[in-house]
Amino acid sequence: MIIQALLFIVSLLPLSQPATDVSLPNLNIKTTMSDNPYYSRTDTAKLNVDDEEWKKILDEEVFYIARKKGTERAFSGKYWDFEGIGTYYCAVCGNKLFKSDSKFGSSCGWPSFFEADRPNSVNYEEDYTFGMSRTEVLCGRCESHLGHIFDDGPPPTGKRFCMNSVVLDFEPDQEGSK
Ligand code: FE
Repeated sequence: MIIQALLFIVSLLPLSQPATDVSLPNLNIKTTMSDNPYYSRTDTAKLNVDDEEWKKILDEEVFYIARKKGTERAFSGKYWDFEGIGTYYCAVCGNKLFKSDSKFGSSCGWPSFFEADRPNSVNYEEDYTFGMSRTEVLCGRCESHLGHIFDDGPPPTGKRFCMNSVVLDFEPDQEGSK
């Protein structure tokens, strides 16, 4: 009888869960200024924080994408078809990354921009993983992985910064300001 009861309980447990799925869309809850001592929208000094420390601070999803170079599922993030007017900051460190006026409607399923806020907002690195040759985009302040850049963007730059919503924080413009 006990064994039958145990077997019944075991049969109710989920057998498997996808290992790489990032649960969306409730993200970035923990990455706020109050919880993250490195988060600043005004301090542009470079950070040198190791992953062990970031793991204690960041949400699991943010850590996975920012520090382990993960990718959110296409069309799953909160910004891929978002059209708010304002500024996008690094969700890890608060670095100013993109303005909404450089965002464009891309069919790729990730938020896409044709230029960064300023040249040193981001850094670039060659990425040869998964049998591809791509250019990785990293935060210029905290070196977190943001996404990749491609040459199929619209004018005036022809670039497409293909970003992960998870590592972006959007702040709307105040009414009347630009
Ligand atoms: Fe950053």
